[in-house]
Amino acid sequence: MKIQWYPGHMAKAKRQVTEKLKMIDVVMEIVDARIPMSSRNPMIEEVTENKPRLMLLNKADLADPQLTREWEAYFEQENVKPLTIDAQHGKGMKQIPAEVQKLAAPLYEKWERKGINPRPLRSLIVGIPNVGKSTVINKLAGKKIAIIGDKPGVTKKQQWIKMGSTLELLDTPGILWPKFEDEAVGYRLALTGAVKEEIFDFQDAVLFFLTFMASEYPQLLKSRYNLDSIPEDKVELFDDIGRKRGCLISGGHVDYDRTAEIIFRDFRQGLFGPVTLEKPVT
Ligand code: GDP
Repeated sequence: MKIQWYPGHMAKAKRQVTEKLKMIDVVMEIVDARIPMSSRNPMIEEVTENKPRLMLLNKADLADPQLTREWEAYFEQENVKPLTIDAQHGKGMKQIPAEVQKLAAPLYEKWERKGINPRPLRSLIVGIPNVGKSTVINKLAGKKIAIIGDKPGVTKKQQWIKMGSTLELLDTPGILWPKFEDEAVGYRLALTGAVKEEIFDFQDAVLFFLTFMASEYPQLLKSRYNLDSIPEDKVELFDDIGRKRGCLISGGHVDYDRTAEIIFRDFRQGLFGPVTLEKPVT
């Protein structure tokens, strides 16, 4: 789905999520574990009105496990309960109902005070595009559900997916927008597929990636492209990879577009091994 975030579109997305939240007790915010900060919505607190929130660090299979632990500790410190999952392979998902129940303790207490019988908790998945909202909903539902992302003219009756006796999940997610102010954030979003290729400079994003990999994961970079060493100059590195992959144009020059595409695809497919593109700043 191609989404362009214009101010009018953002206001509409916020309205739609706010509308859904009226029915909701607990929010499940999904981020990409490879970019837990860059894949957050800049106004998540405001949008979710401080409802109890479970933070799902999804795509853990693609992320660096050591850094995922650091991110978990970071969010704990920020008082946002993290849960690491790999929705694609269904890992970590069984813990969701128990974690949501813990977060809803104040609500249960309130019901008890008022003499109200507890009902199943109602939850909503929210997140920016491509972080895995539909995958999580489908896994939790145990079947494929047509996820329709608030398209004009398309209406669908919203339904609750039962997760055991204590939790229900709305079968359409709340789609939020990422933040674009910072160039590095934009590149991380592009590399992980949260924003479309057309809206950023492809080669710049790959150069950003190569610079990051050379500094943080040199071994993974070397072994992926069979490099003996990593040149200081990242354009030279681009060249080396292009030559290794046979991406040449006439005159023996490197075809940067094709090389960038290969590097990009390799990362998207997880072929470097687990990589996390940002560290928590404490
Ligand atoms: P949405 O836009 O937030 O609804 O994202 P989708 O559920 O459509 O997922 C976007 C892409 O990420 C799809 O290609 C999924 O197969 C993939 N994906 C979702 N969760 C995971 C995960 O845990 N691990 C991996 N490797 N891929 C995932």
